[in-house]
Amino acid sequence: MTGCDVCWICLGEADECKPLLLVCKCPRPVHAACAARWQLQSAGKSEETQCRFCAAALPDWRQFLTPEALRSVDALATMSITLKAKTAVLSVSSEAGAYEEFLHRICCIFDLPSDAQFNFGFDCDDPLNCGKITLSGARFYHAAVHCAKISAARRLTESRNIGES
Ligand SMILES: [Zn+2]
Ligand SMILES: [Zn+2]
Repeated sequence: MTGCDVCWICLGEADECKPLLLVCKCPRPVHAACAARWQLQSAGKSEETQCRFCAAALPDWRQFLTPEALRSVDALATMSITLKAKTAVLSVSSEAGAYEEFLHRICCIFDLPSDAQFNFGFDCDDPLNCGKITLSGARFYHAAVHCAKISAARRLTESRNIGES
């Protein structure tokens, strides 16, 4: 056992569905989904898009954290925001200016001053295995939108399947 043919993140070996890849110039292989989850946890920091060791650009993690069957499903992402015992459901997007718009709508709905400071904790479904992940901090907004999109696509697909059967 040399240690070279295991994923440096999960220490698992390659298998047919999960080959080991080199995602940057570093000589250490990784599963695509493991690297993508690592990047997700680094969302909003330079490590999200760039290897901290070799500085190579990393592939967009979203493509590896989107289940094959949901790739072409266009569902509206939503987030439930709970504040002061009140919950509101907002549609969310990752477009330019969407985060500022999101803050603005929260201030309006919850009657907050426009310079209110937020301490977000995004409770998301893991895009691949549906386990729960919590992303703490405003820097995770765009990553949380991606998770919300996948969850919405999954719900839409499941409701269609029920409708057809
Ligand atoms: Zn791995
Ligand atoms: Zn590297």
